Amino acid sequence: MPISLYNGLTRRLEPFVPLDPQRVTMYVCGPTVYNFVHIGNARPPVVFDVLARLLRRHYPQVVYARNITDVDDKINAAAQQQGVPITTITDRFAQAFRDDMAGLGVAPPDIEPHATAHIGEIVAMVEQLLASGHAYAAEGHVLFDVGSYPAYGELSGRDTEELIAGARVDVAPYKKSPGDFVLWKPSTPELPGWDSPWGRGRPGWHIECSAMSAAHLGETIDIHAGGIDLQFPHHENEIAQSTCAHGGKAFARYWLHNGMLTFGGRKMSKSLGNVLLVHELLQQHPAEALRLMLLRGHYRQPLDWSDDAIQQAVNTLDGWYRVLRDLDGIDLPEGALPAPPAVEAALCDDINTPQALAELSQLADAARQAGTAAAKAELLGGGALLGLLQQAPEAWFQRGGETIDAVHIEGLLQQRRDARAARDFARADAIRAELDALGIVIEDSAQGTRWSVK
Ligand SMILES: [Zn+2]
Repeated sequence: MPISLYNGLTRRLEPFVPLDPQRVTMYVCGPTVYNFVHIGNARPPVVFDVLARLLRRHYPQVVYARNITDVDDKINAAAQQQGVPITTITDRFAQAFRDDMAGLGVAPPDIEPHATAHIGEIVAMVEQLLASGHAYAAEGHVLFDVGSYPAYGELSGRDTEELIAGARVDVAPYKKSPGDFVLWKPSTPELPGWDSPWGRGRPGWHIECSAMSAAHLGETIDIHAGGIDLQFPHHENEIAQSTCAHGGKAFARYWLHNGMLTFGGRKMSKSLGNVLLVHELLQQHPAEALRLMLLRGHYRQPLDWSDDAIQQAVNTLDGWYRVLRDLDGIDLPEGALPAPPAVEAALCDDINTPQALAELSQLADAARQAGTAAAKAELLGGGALLGLLQQAPEAWFQRGGETIDAVHIEGLLQQRRDARAARDFARADAIRAELDALGIVIEDSAQGTRWSVK
């Protein structure tokens, strides 16, 4: 089944044709690690995790890199404020990010390059840009000369004047033109820095992605992705640097951007005080419902986050897991799970996750009605394409179960069965009330009594 992707560079839906079908390359811009990430930051890792899963089904090798920005002025500020080296901050929050993503069912990327581990490559790329006349050194800085690259602005579709106005860039005295951006900047002794031909300093933000992408994936890659907020200036600058450093070779062939998350219709931002941290949401809600939430809208559209929508996601998963629980005793057919064509077709159509989820609902209905091993396998296989429905139904219903003493609950259920067998209904009701007070819902059925957490 061919994959089509909306290419932000051409502004068209295009068939995805990799440069080398034996080795598909994808780079997604990762976090700057100085605090916990909010749920909006989780949208690209989750969406492009679904794309990586799809590509891995279609191609023998997919090399997926998602970087960690571990040197940055915000990191430096946090480290200075706390009086610790930057690695104390970056190690802690890089791990927090990995934990949050694992919580959301995001498979780790193949490569997680760190900027500070690539200073040599960054310096070499800056030297290349200087040698080819695309950059200039001034007052300890090295700047990219935007005027030297006529295609600048192609990705965001704006002319240079507009870009400069939109970016509200600093008009620093060492810049030839206000749109020129920093490749390397000087560090004072108390700031982290590395020796370079331009003195002790540190890289600008944009250059790290260009250098790390080339180091791990090659000069021309298949897919570069990230949030739409990165399209300008970050991705525009990456294209300019990489193309000019590599003698005019294309940098990334397909550019994918996800829309922003809003909360109550407003942009999620610290200044509005409506930022929801992933690690807090994971303590309050079932992780899989959060993943479903991030996939329920098309990735290119904005997505509004609300408590009602989380509850809907929980209800949806309750319904699907109920079907799977009813089919618990049915063994799956031998071999790998099938990839249901309707789910796969939706994902091949520019990662249309809302359509894929609608198809998954259909498969759940079909499995409920048919009650067969084949129908169960289709539902689980469709879930696997989206990274959903991969836990045991009991684990889903006993969510938060780590704080609930399952042995104690099973014991109470046994006492209730004994009381009912002895026709001591008052005792049975008292036990039910005790379970209710523990937040446990019980459900009597022909197969016995089941329990779940409210
Ligand atoms: Zn980047």
